[in-house]
Amino acid sequence: VLRLEGVRKSFGTSTPREVEVLHGIDLVLRRGEFCALIGPSGSGKSTMLNLIGLLDRPTAGTLFIEGRDTRDMDDASLTQLRGRSIGFVFQHHHLIGAFTAAENVMMPLLLYRNRPDVAMRRHAEALLDRVGLLPWKDSRVGNLSGGQQQRVAIARALAMSPALVLADEPTGNLDTRSADGVFDLLREMNQTSRTTFLIVTHDPRLAQRCDRIIEVVDGQIVADEAVLAPGRIGTA
Ligand code: ATP
Ligand code: MG
Repeated sequence: VLRLEGVRKSFGTSTPREVEVLHGIDLVLRRGEFCALIGPSGSGKSTMLNLIGLLDRPTAGTLFIEGRDTRDMDDASLTQLRGRSIGFVFQHHHLIGAFTAAENVMMPLLLYRNRPDVAMRRHAEALLDRVGLLPWKDSRVGNLSGGQQQRVAIARALAMSPALVLADEPTGNLDTRSADGVFDLLREMNQTSRTTFLIVTHDPRLAQRCDRIIEVVDGQIVADEAVLAPGRIGTA
């Protein structure tokens, strides 16, 4: 689904104060993997997610998404590829508070795909049903709780049936119970759709519930390990 080869990122490249924050990242994510991305504050996790999400370009190295080399693609092609292949869930969900839940979920469909209105609405409602929010489909997002808003964001991220979902601290603003609920939902979406997930989290407890933990320190991957199923280490 995703391959990074020697990806580097510097900021301030046209100034004397250029700083490199990613120093050659190699990474492969396969279909259906559910991965945690961890590391100290400032280690480069969000920068990495922005590159993978095609929101920014690497300074060096290359990134393949579903086998396609993105290095020589123009901005319009990147936007298309991003829209079709990648879903986003952020800590601050970037939903539009004045719009309803269903309208927010339809947003990517309006942007990237021409479908009749009725079909889009039906699709949005099916997704809201999957995240347990069908009764709230016509509620304004601004009136929903933080956990509910994150569920709307997850439904929206899945609207285009992306190959890869990127989540940057999706539970960062939530209390433990809502965080667990949102995390369980991501897991369930992964298991039912075979979508690959890459989730930035500061919560070691949630990271342990992923299949794989990738650790970044100072712009480099310092560890990349499969998580043993709890049953296998005898705690279940
Ligand atoms: P956190 O856990 O706090 O979210 P992070 O691992 O996501 O941290 P990044 O946001 O990727 O860290 O930042 C990595 C480094 O890059 C930091 O030193 C940051 O100051 C720097 N950085 C990020 N974005 C920019 C930018 N647009 N311009 C200059 N420096 C930047
Ligand atoms: Mg960050």
